[in-house]
Amino acid sequence: MTTFPSKAAPKVGIVSLGCPKALVDSERILTRLRAEGYEISPSYDGADVVLVNTCGFLDSAKKESLDAIGEAIKENGRVIVTGCMGVESDMIRQVHPDVLAVTGPHQYEQVVSAVHEAVPPQHDPFVDLVPPEGLRLTPRHYAYLKISEGCNNRCSFCIIPSLRGDLVSRPVVSVLREAEKLATAGVKELLVISQDTSAYGVDRKYAEETWYGRQVRARFIDLCRELANFDVWVRLHYVYPYPHVDEVIPLMAEGRILPYLDIPFQHASPTVLKAMRRPAAQEKQLDRIRKWRQDCPHLVLRSTFITGFPGETEEDFQFMLDWLKEAQLDRVGCFKYEPVDGATANALPGAVPEEVKQERWERFMETQKAISAERLQQKVGWTLGVLIDEVDEEGAIGRSYADAPEIDGNVFLNGETNLKPGDLVDVTIEHADEYDLWGSVERDL
Ligand code: SF4
Repeated sequence: MTTFPSKAAPKVGIVSLGCPKALVDSERILTRLRAEGYEISPSYDGADVVLVNTCGFLDSAKKESLDAIGEAIKENGRVIVTGCMGVESDMIRQVHPDVLAVTGPHQYEQVVSAVHEAVPPQHDPFVDLVPPEGLRLTPRHYAYLKISEGCNNRCSFCIIPSLRGDLVSRPVVSVLREAEKLATAGVKELLVISQDTSAYGVDRKYAEETWYGRQVRARFIDLCRELANFDVWVRLHYVYPYPHVDEVIPLMAEGRILPYLDIPFQHASPTVLKAMRRPAAQEKQLDRIRKWRQDCPHLVLRSTFITGFPGETEEDFQFMLDWLKEAQLDRVGCFKYEPVDGATANALPGAVPEEVKQERWERFMETQKAISAERLQQKVGWTLGVLIDEVDEEGAIGRSYADAPEIDGNVFLNGETNLKPGDLVDVTIEHADEYDLWGSVERDL
């Protein structure tokens, strides 16, 4: 029998900061490195080199990224920086001159070559094997599915298009193939992400491809219809309310994809929206929300808003609060406007003082808290499918169709210590507070 001399495989540690899109980038880099025989180290001291995938969206995120780089240098010493903040290579090197390399967002080739340079790969046919769905940083039962990169919009508070460029959609068959592999590997929930999900395929002129003998366009509705065939939860994030979004509501009403839409409205006042240069006309949004709910009564809407945008008056803010009360959104996040370096909105007149931003933010959150509590209260007595995320000695914690991981609420199942992450159970909702639900598992007697 032939034996192979065994040499320890080189190990890479990773610190992944920022949004789900950055997480998907980290997964791609790791998948590639794992395919080349690298091992992934869970700690700084076991790693031959540490990758820090940074976020540069807000100044607070930049600070967090710089701190993470500093910590990795202190704990390990051999650090490669990648991700959104990588475009500010000079600044990173000024603060941390010891970093080995700095690469920008989506520069997969460059990150991988930087790793090769720092720790050369070792060919070993036994460790080159990677599970077909790639390596993921999310728990096994849910996965982010990134359908495009970049954005054609130019919202005045955002620097993503200058960091990541214009919209580049993945070919539809490549997205579907990845979704199929994930579903086959046991993933129960696919979270569709991009910067602008409903614009999917515009850049490819909705190019058609063949998938299992069917002609499928690289188009939002075609993609949703096909994803609905995988028999897993499909959750749509970052959907702008372009008119064609209406087409997806029947799929939700039929229960083929989750009746959940994450639409970043950001504001409601037409003046502020105009200054923000937001895509999709928003004046008729309340009518559309009403119609969507008529057609799909259990539809859950999540959104984010910004308070204190330059030029926002008390009337604009009050308009947004009134809109919020009318819209009755289920899940809402709110940020105080932050003048991100490079955003054109910084040049707008009428900067809102910090204390006014804070005061408006508090009023906004109070208003939404009451709406959220009331909407969750309506669910008491319902039976909902709940996907289990975590189990500890007190019981199980899961989510219903109404809750995306990390950003929305939870369903707590006290005493259910025998469930496992990834189990899908029917739960009768017994209690609700402002953000979460409690219930018990329905069992056949
Ligand atoms: S839609 Fe606007 S906020 Fe979203 S990534 Fe594009 S430019 Fe930025």
